[in-house]
Amino acid sequence: MRNVTVLAGGVGGARFTRGLLAHLAAAAPDAAVTVIVNTGDDMWLDGLRICPDLDTVMYTLGGGINEEQGWGRPEETRRTSSEIAAYGRGWSWFTLGDLDLATHIVRTDLLRNGSTLSEATAFLCQRWQPGVRLLPMSDQPVETHVCLAENVDEHAAGDYIHFEEWWVRYRAQVAVTGFKQRGLAEAVAAPGVREAIRTADLIVLPPSNPVVSIGTILAVPGVRDALRSTTARVVGVSPIIGGAAVRGMADACLRTIGVETSALGVGLHYGSRNRGGLLDAWLVDETDAAALPALAAAGIRSTAAPLWMRDLNATTAMAAAVLAL
Ligand code: GDP
Ligand code: CA
Repeated sequence: MRNVTVLAGGVGGARFTRGLLAHLAAAAPDAAVTVIVNTGDDMWLDGLRICPDLDTVMYTLGGGINEEQGWGRPEETRRTSSEIAAYGRGWSWFTLGDLDLATHIVRTDLLRNGSTLSEATAFLCQRWQPGVRLLPMSDQPVETHVCLAENVDEHAAGDYIHFEEWWVRYRAQVAVTGFKQRGLAEAVAAPGVREAIRTADLIVLPPSNPVVSIGTILAVPGVRDALRSTTARVVGVSPIIGGAAVRGMADACLRTIGVETSALGVGLHYGSRNRGGLLDAWLVDETDAAALPALAAAGIRSTAAPLWMRDLNATTAMAAAVLAL
């Protein structure tokens, strides 16, 4: 095993990759890991470019993550945010801690001076040393918006709002009719992305949100085709355990696109690579073992294993199970 490529969102992708690195350090010390990260959650806020999933992966693998929250930095203060609020600016529902703001300032400065997002990410990673090659899915801005099914606050039914507003401000509790990735038509995969898929020995779809994390990466022109045609095995890990999204509100995303919130539903949504889908193999939690026959019937080789990323040991064992598949 030399080259492993992971397609990741934020917390789920980052925690899985941490286990993957721990497993590889013992099992395949020469292996190199590339993580292709969703940038559909990116946005402009207070004049700064915010990249939530890139930062979560970078901080998690670089030892700078707030472990309880799963995002942002530990021991944060909010002095700058309160000052911005005093001007009546910013989004009161979106937290920007003072330490985290430094990352956004440096990134925005690089972007304004002509760096691509890939270059800015590589620069930030010089400090954090995440132990992987971290690639944004695209250097062009692609932003996920949701279409509201009903009126809420200043928004009317049928309006599109940024995914982060729906997710963070409304906790995904407001009905939406669909997702739209703004900018996708002008976007191409970032340098190295398709190559990392083509030349990998193993590709992992970690337990990230199948709709707005992995689904958005797959929507970038060329990515799905690269996955379909790579000689690497493509192995997925279910983000759904016992019919529920372990953390967060992924069920609201799945419901919106008509996919059942279950390990089986998500497995069938990705589909078997032999039958026009993406997966060579699929890992479900041991409590979802009953789904194995239906997955096999759909041409997806599956195994059950404990999939709760409780701690590093549990997550390392999960990564070992993926490699064993
Ligand atoms: P986000 O961008 O921060 O929302 O993170 P991701 O898209 O990478 O991952 C979010 C998903 O991770 C959630 O929807 C959960 O379904 C999944 N998840 C979180 N914790 C666990 C866990 O311990 N085990 C498994 N199997 N999935 C998890
Ligand atoms: Ca995210």
